[in-house]
Amino acid sequence: MPRILDGVAIAAAIKQEVAEEASALAARGIRPGLAAVLVGNVAASEIYVRSKVQTCADLGIFSELITPPATVTTEEMLDLVAALNRRDEIDGILIQLPLPAHVDTKALLDAIDPAKDVDGFHPVNAGRLQAGRSALVPCTPAGIIEILTRSGIPIAGQHAVVVGRSDIVGKPAAMLLLHQNATVTICHSKTRNLGEITRQADILVAAIGRPGFITAEMVKPGATLVDVGINRIMERAEFERFFAGDAKREAAFAKNGSVIVGDIDPKAFELAGAYTPVPGGVGKLTIAMLMANTVRAAKMRRGI
Ligand code: NDP
Repeated sequence: MPRILDGVAIAAAIKQEVAEEASALAARGIRPGLAAVLVGNVAASEIYVRSKVQTCADLGIFSELITPPATVTTEEMLDLVAALNRRDEIDGILIQLPLPAHVDTKALLDAIDPAKDVDGFHPVNAGRLQAGRSALVPCTPAGIIEILTRSGIPIAGQHAVVVGRSDIVGKPAAMLLLHQNATVTICHSKTRNLGEITRQADILVAAIGRPGFITAEMVKPGATLVDVGINRIMERAEFERFFAGDAKREAAFAKNGSVIVGDIDPKAFELAGAYTPVPGGVGKLTIAMLMANTVRAAKMRRGI
């Protein structure tokens, strides 16, 4: 039986540690603070940001929710970021993506003080990560490493194959695995013979954004499968392809009209030595790591 790597339990443990650190800082008169910027009324973004703000409250981190209208200009957003950069009680600045198309996302992310860049997207932090220097690391890739290490999955010397090379998941995940002494291969949409490469993986990270893209034939039996994908499927035929005979998911599909599937076909999990489920795997770590980064930023900014 493959082992399920429980993102819920690991996220809870990390949050507990963060709450303890926040409380130790509070005893020294320091209160870590996160500014969350939510532009417009994108329903999914609202849910994410509210959950981040609520988690701050649960862990003893100060947070401020700033909600510019969807008509906000790049200049107004740059002014907002500059003001947040100046405020000493703000340790982390989070701009919830995606932004409206007329706003220059890159310019905004580049304007965030790297010391407050708790999403780890600033080129300075990306460079520091690559150079193996202490940095604020993107939350989802950092969560992947936490799941593997806290589950006792060996990384050093293993062949880790990362499918996906985005700046927010694939590339930093590959870099972190490399720093943990894995032998890393990065694959993408132009990779030839993808299945041949993924079949060599001791650790296979899928960050593609395509439902069930990695099939059982693409996986080495006994491998550790890390599924980053979050894909909502709404069509019956697609549901049947992944979840035929799964009574629990059938009930969820009937109730909500959709279910979530990762980038790995659930049938591939049966071959794995261990895997992160979707939901309940990598996704659960992302907010926990954001909280950890906020406390880390608060400490780093004060030289602690
Ligand atoms: P992007 O769309 O930015 O990147 C997708 C990557 O997959 C690209 O590098 C692309 O290659 C590669 N790719 C696309 N098609 C193929 C293919 N046919 N064969 C091989 N590689 C392919 O996505 P993200 O990195 O932002 O997200 C990936 C997934 O992770 C999504 O499902 C997203 O929802 C999820 N996610 C989950 C998070 C969580 O908290 N769990 C957080 C962030 C994302 P190329 O570069 O050549 O185009």
